[in-house]
Amino acid sequence: SDSRVIMDESAMRRALTRIAHEMVEKNKGIQGCVLIGIRTRGIYIAHRLAERILDIEGHPISVGELDITGYRDDRPYSEEDIRVIPGGELSLLVKDKRIILVDDVLYTGRTIRAALDALMDCGRPQSIQLAVLVDRGHRELPIRPDYVGKNVPTSRHEQIDVSLSEIDDNDCVMILHP
Ligand code: 5GP
Ligand code: MG
Repeated sequence: SDSRVIMDESAMRRALTRIAHEMVEKNKGIQGCVLIGIRTRGIYIAHRLAERILDIEGHPISVGELDITGYRDDRPYSEEDIRVIPGGELSLLVKDKRIILVDDVLYTGRTIRAALDALMDCGRPQSIQLAVLVDRGHRELPIRPDYVGKNVPTSRHEQIDVSLSEIDDNDCVMILHP
């Protein structure tokens, strides 16, 4: 097997800075916007984007956290499948807000579909956008990201490895060929 670096630390930093600017531009500011990070690495990426948006706009943006581990397709929605880590009800974060979901890698789209279900059950957001660090293709649902760090065409047996300094050794995205 071999692996190749597709984003190093500075490439990741530039991509996140660009996405933060795109978010501010697309939403004409950040009024009513909430970043919601998905499970482990999407949460760290959401917090990084929030820091940059604070730098750009001078206003903090709320960050929520969604854990949809164990909840994907073909399973009824269950409260235990969704956890919001900071205090407060997810419904308060969602109602009438412009939600921006954040994840590390977008693949089939099934995780995002589950996240959309969970959010919709919590209240009616004004809109939902999607930001991902890597889009590796192979969508199985009509879901597309609004903000992309890097498009990485992959084969199904390849894997993307995302390292973030908060929990890993460094900031790095690699493609792994088995
Ligand atoms: P999907 O639900 O779109 O098939 O897969 C996306 C979810 O699975 C994301 O939460 C992402 O973290 C994880 N995932 C899918 N493929 C990969 C991959 O190649 N590398 C990494 N690091 N995560 C992946
Ligand atoms: Mg994930």
